[in-house]
Amino acid sequence: MKTLESPQRINMLLVVDNEQERASFRQIPNQEKVEYSITDCSCTNEAFSTAARDCLAFDVVVVNHHPPYLDGLELCKKILAASIPLPLVILVGSGFEGIAAEALKAGVNDYIIKDPYNAYLGILPYVLNRVVISNRESRLREEATMSLCESQERLQHIVEGITIPTFVINKNHIVTHWNQACANITGVPAAEVIGTRQQWRAFYTSERPVMADLIVDRVIEDMVARHYGGKYLHSKVINGAFEAEDFFPHFGEAGKWLYFTAAPLRDSNGQISGAIETLQDISERRKAELALKESERLYRELSITDGLTRLYNSRHFFGRAREEIERCNRYASPLSLILLDVDNFKKFNDSYGHIDGDRVLAGLADVIREGIRGVDSAYRYGGEEFIVLFPETEPGEAVIVAERIRQSFEQTTFSPSGICVNMTISIGGGSYHFGEDLTSFVKRIDGAMYEAKRLGRNRVVFVE
Ligand code: GH3
Ligand code: MG
Ligand code: MG
Repeated sequence: MKTLESPQRINMLLVVDNEQERASFRQIPNQEKVEYSITDCSCTNEAFSTAARDCLAFDVVVVNHHPPYLDGLELCKKILAASIPLPLVILVGSGFEGIAAEALKAGVNDYIIKDPYNAYLGILPYVLNRVVISNRESRLREEATMSLCESQERLQHIVEGITIPTFVINKNHIVTHWNQACANITGVPAAEVIGTRQQWRAFYTSERPVMADLIVDRVIEDMVARHYGGKYLHSKVINGAFEAEDFFPHFGEAGKWLYFTAAPLRDSNGQISGAIETLQDISERRKAELALKESERLYRELSITDGLTRLYNSRHFFGRAREEIERCNRYASPLSLILLDVDNFKKFNDSYGHIDGDRVLAGLADVIREGIRGVDSAYRYGGEEFIVLFPETEPGEAVIVAERIRQSFEQTTFSPSGICVNMTISIGGGSYHFGEDLTSFVKRIDGAMYEAKRLGRNRVVFVE
């Protein structure tokens, strides 16, 4: 609250009963350039009705107590009883100190003892000044209290009137508002949390600041980052506010995703006086986002996977192979590739049918999968042809893997129509030549595979 300076003008309702005294009031010494505007009344009835009617026009009522002509004390009591908000100063003659005491007891603000030499007129400006200032101060205080109550009430109505879960804390971190929507979403009733610093209980299992607490503490950003990881943002709408999303595992039956924002509340001087936090249940949106991501992931996986063997398909091979080639050319790292083809597969199909043929292809895919490392990748290149890419691998190492796959497949037994059948594969392999394009590279390896066929099948041939 502001402290008041001396009033520059004092509007006085002066109630005295004789002209001589009235005239002496015109002589009130000027004190710090205060200008006195005096309205005279000579009888108590007139004075009371003027004070009642124009109370806002006056700063003070100065009443002479001069019985039986003017019962100043009676007038003061009447004004006080009517709750007219004007400060009162009573003038009493010397020897009437008892009246002054009674007047103060009744609520009169001050008194002055008159003296025959009018010396009291010299004191009067100081008394008036003090009375007027203190009255103005108490009026301001009252107004400030009223407006604070009103704004608290208004905030209460706003917070209670919105369906967004909302709570408010003051600068001491004490919860002042917790609306029904907030009680519904957190499962914590307002009565349990208002007036306490237990807001964290609604969200966490151990004590820690909620976002509103961080706002009240004017925390520096890295505190927000510490408590909310990378999951927070500066609000684009409210200066000094933050927003975040987080999962609260003990909300509801399966936990809830909440989006929450916390903004500072400021007093008339711009100082943070509290914080308001709103919550939003975004579980459905998060679920939909996750489902969409999962279906995108599945779709992507399906689009690069061969349905029969669950190895990657040839479309994916060309993408990956180009990336690997680019890496080889940039870093001069080795890259090996093998191409596998089932021997005499047509004959098998013709003898046992396509379905058993498919089982052979799936079986070969299993053997390949088991035979390679995590960094290698296997593809169904064509009908009964497969490719494996070995990044960072010299041909010597790739030959060993190829030979192991060949042997393992040879030992795998299939049983079409109840007959035990073993199949074989021919494998061509080699390493990438710096600057070579993908087509030429694959063609070279294909040539090696055909060489393996030509040499009698069921073997591994590597080319330089
Ligand atoms: P080679 O040893 O020279 O490779 O002889 P091959 O009989 O394996 O080669 P060829 O190219 O003559 O025949 C390949 C056969 O693979 C023909 C085709 O019916 C069969 N085939 C291709 N795709 C599939 C498939 O998805 N399932 C089945 N069961 N057979 C397939
Ligand atoms: Mg073939
Ligand atoms: Mg074949």
